[in-house]
Amino acid sequence: MRIARTVAELRDAVRAARSAGKRIGLVPTMGAFHDGHLALMRRAREATGFVVVSLFVNPTQFNDPADLARYPRDEARDADLARSVGVDVLFAPLAEEVYPPGFATTVEVARLSTPLEGAMRGPAHFRGVATVVTKLLNMVQPDDAFFGQKDAQQALIIATLVRDLDLPVRIEVCPTVREADGLAMSSRNARLDPDARRRAPAIARALRAIEASVTAGERDMRHAIDATKPILAEAGIEPEYFEAVSADTLDPVARLDGDTLVAIAARVGGIRLIDNVIVSRPPAQ
Ligand code: AMP
Repeated sequence: MRIARTVAELRDAVRAARSAGKRIGLVPTMGAFHDGHLALMRRAREATGFVVVSLFVNPTQFNDPADLARYPRDEARDADLARSVGVDVLFAPLAEEVYPPGFATTVEVARLSTPLEGAMRGPAHFRGVATVVTKLLNMVQPDDAFFGQKDAQQALIIATLVRDLDLPVRIEVCPTVREADGLAMSSRNARLDPDARRRAPAIARALRAIEASVTAGERDMRHAIDATKPILAEAGIEPEYFEAVSADTLDPVARLDGDTLVAIAARVGGIRLIDNVIVSRPPAQ
């Protein structure tokens, strides 16, 4: 596995692979790898012939400077893990390589960036994500790029910008990888203290309860959510949001019809966690 620091080095490596006839895959990450990241890399390994993983803690998407400062960083460990799953290039640039002096251009996906995470973290968050992912897609020019369902709104925003800007890449969204107790894997989980770690799986339990109530015939999403809130309350968790929205438009969903994203964000012991499921009406019997 090669570690590339500059766009020029990265492009040399990708050019060689492409001229050898290989399909190029990209997995964008901010590092602190866990099994969710490794699942994306394995999927990229399976679907393409040359896997690039980017490792860049993108400053422009952090609304809270303290969150950016505390974000876990361990490049040596990440490089070992990436190597172990057959990654070809780890692209780990410095911030100056990504944002040289005079950097002035941003990408903003209207509407989809406003609700949920956009409402909580402010407009700079998804502008930062959309801009850096557009840049990474242009730097690598992959055939396929892989993202996690864990960040459902982010994946939808990226699929939309790829379509709207005619970027020649196929976006694949991969399932959320969970701990044995259901907690969605996240680089932030390492910062949960033992009490918070014990309470955090209530988020996934609440989402499973929503799935179960939909399977049992519930169609009123407000009712389903209200009936499920005690699962969070019993764990001492007050959600920042717990909402049902269209999986395509992110507009609020009152009555279940098409694919519906049910998303939760909550601080547990001071650590901000997000999780979601997609539910849909079972076909009529
Ligand atoms: P991050 O390093 O947190 O920016 O995440 C990099 C990629 O990994 C994004 O596409 C995330 O959606 C994805 N990801 C993060 N956590 C998980 C998880 N538990 N399961 C699947 N994908 C994940």
